[in-house]
Amino acid sequence: MTAPQPKPWIMDIAPYVPGKSATDDGRTVAKLSSNENPLGTSDAARAAFLRHAGELERYPDASATVLREALAAAHGLDASRIIYGTGSDEVLHLAAGAFAGPGDEIIFVRYGFAVYEIATRRVGATPIIAPDKDYATDVDAILSCVTDKTRVVFVANPNNPTGTYTPRHEIARLHAALPSDVLLVLDHAYAEYLTPDEDDGGMVLAQNAPNVLVTRTFSKIYGLAAERVGWGYAAPAIIDAMHRIRAPFSFSIAAQDAAVAAIADTDFVEKSRAHNTQWLGWFADEIAKLGNAGLRAVPSKANFQLVLFEGRVTAEQAYGALMQHGYIVRWLPGQGLGNGLRITIGTEDQCRGVIAALRAITGADA
Ligand SMILES: *Cc1c(COP(=O)(O)O)cnc(C)c1O
Repeated sequence: MTAPQPKPWIMDIAPYVPGKSATDDGRTVAKLSSNENPLGTSDAARAAFLRHAGELERYPDASATVLREALAAAHGLDASRIIYGTGSDEVLHLAAGAFAGPGDEIIFVRYGFAVYEIATRRVGATPIIAPDKDYATDVDAILSCVTDKTRVVFVANPNNPTGTYTPRHEIARLHAALPSDVLLVLDHAYAEYLTPDEDDGGMVLAQNAPNVLVTRTFSKIYGLAAERVGWGYAAPAIIDAMHRIRAPFSFSIAAQDAAVAAIADTDFVEKSRAHNTQWLGWFADEIAKLGNAGLRAVPSKANFQLVLFEGRVTAEQAYGALMQHGYIVRWLPGQGLGNGLRITIGTEDQCRGVIAALRAITGADA
């Protein structure tokens, strides 16, 4: 008897490995492995979420009208051109699913977001990996990967897991050089951590070009990762295609209203950004002081810091030792980053604690 056979490209997928929440021996420790907001969630968002416990039997609004209108008003966009999904992860899958299939190619960078490869293989397309430039996105390397089979290019800006940032003129150069039938997906999961003058121009491209999709999420600065709300913005024809394959009811009623309340709570977003700017800067400076122990901070503009271990202590050793000190960070050998740890910028105490632990682990205290 033969069992049902998965499509071969499905079995080529390496399952996504989420950040850990507890140590291997079951202790709950500070979780700095998933880039969650250390300040939590907006109180207004939490209150909005709690208001919906009495209507669990109802389906949510499949067209997410309230959320789309709130987003359109907040960002100066056309509500009819907003797609949404169960986290921006779903929106990324929709982009691959609507525009690529077997025989097509999807390009992303070597140290890119793990979901890009899953989304690519899921639809039977071929992942094409563009080399990095000292961990950062290399526009020329991406362009040299383009063939007549290229259908989609995924670029996260800032990028995860590196935290690196590609400036506006480079994004413009990438877009200008891509064939107009290639969809450029600009993943702005961390865009809210940038200052206004660091805007990479993606949303203006999505507004004006026929082939640019910008994706955003409520999981990071808005602190709503549990609720799975993501969205995207592109030309009407792009959005129309994606709507045809999305799950009809992407997120819950409570999630939608929590997201709408989160948009309105600009104080919380501002506070979260200021916290991150202060402690990311501090953290990178402290890592630089550990340079003689072989530690190096890859320049980050996100809410995490990739730390490379190029000396006596390896990233794997530091990962285990940090866990003993009470901090779970992200070690990513499966993504070719066996030499680094991605560490979320936590509370002040957590940042100070991680640095103190790294000093002890590397012997910098001695
Ligand atoms: C966290 C993250 C996302 C967001 O995922 P959600 O599904 O919205 O929670 C998207 N892209 C990148 C690069 C990320 O790091």
